[in-house]
Amino acid sequence: MVNLTRDFFIALSNNQFLNDNAKRWGFRLGAEKFVAGTDLPQAAEKVKELNERGISVTLDNLGEFVNDRAEAEAAKNQILQVIEYIHKERLNGHVSVKLTQVGLDIDKEFCMENMREILTKASEYDIFVNIDMEKYIHYQPTLDIVKELHKDYENVGTVMQTYLYRTLDDLKDLEDVRLRIVKGAYKESEEVAFQEKEDIDSNFMEAVKIRLQGNAFTSIATHDHNLIEKVKKYVEEHQIDKRKFEFQMLYGFRVEMQYALAEEGYNFCTYIPFGDDWYGYFMRRLAERPQNINLVLKDTFYT
Ligand code: FAD
Repeated sequence: MVNLTRDFFIALSNNQFLNDNAKRWGFRLGAEKFVAGTDLPQAAEKVKELNERGISVTLDNLGEFVNDRAEAEAAKNQILQVIEYIHKERLNGHVSVKLTQVGLDIDKEFCMENMREILTKASEYDIFVNIDMEKYIHYQPTLDIVKELHKDYENVGTVMQTYLYRTLDDLKDLEDVRLRIVKGAYKESEEVAFQEKEDIDSNFMEAVKIRLQGNAFTSIATHDHNLIEKVKKYVEEHQIDKRKFEFQMLYGFRVEMQYALAEEGYNFCTYIPFGDDWYGYFMRRLAERPQNINLVLKDTFYT
């Protein structure tokens, strides 16, 4: 049943017609629980509240299904604006970008050029740029681009999904790159990815341990309290410097736990999605945790 529900929401997230229409609807379906606003000033209010609690943020100007150059250029310009805004408003934060947003599906070189422009602007202000990891079809191209960009820019990093069999191997080549470790949000086949939670979780811990024994900074991104407890125990037992890592969670998820981890003295970063292209992101969150639909329905129909 859980898998059927997950497949249902993943299929909805991939529906381009619904994605396009959602842009015209404005917020619907209770999306505001997990998306911080349809524009930057709205999201910035949430950022400031979190910053006051000692929590940093990563801002994601949502965008999917970019198939032409003009759209990709527009997305790049919006990301440049976010970087300017972080600098001007002195926000404690960085940006998260998806390569498909800035042209990966159109032309790899064009996508690289857009990323170079983003990274040049971000490095002027000492702002980090994370490249989110998308579906497996984009995995190798993303790694290739990250490695190429990292030769010229220290302020770029990416995400490793521990549902993939190859993740631990691929970490070897990324020792000096800042990484976010996640379980993985897409539906992948058993040819490339673990299907059982137990296997994904144990791979997650292996990846985290490898990273914490290395030198580059790591973001440990999960809402899973069991894994968070395991990480805390590992850090204590191995006397890992807390400056080497942070915990990350998505906006609107386990908010009390986010505050508690920050209060306990861990670096904490909240992932803040915003913008009118909220539909695919929101459907993937419902796929991960169908219980969220209860929250959403309750607010939509009973208030
Ligand atoms: P789950 O396996 O979803 O949950 C484990 C257990 O934790 C649940 O069984 C439940 O007991 C508890 N739990 C979880 N959520 C809640 C809740 N809200 N309330 C109460 N209990 C809860 N994926 C990508 O593929 N690419 C990316 O670039 C990417 N970036 C991400 C960035 C951040 C900051 C985060 C947090 C996730 C990102 N993801 C990304 C998504 C990620 O891959 C997972 O799909 C998502 O985080 C769900 O897995 P989980 O580790 O949170 O735990």
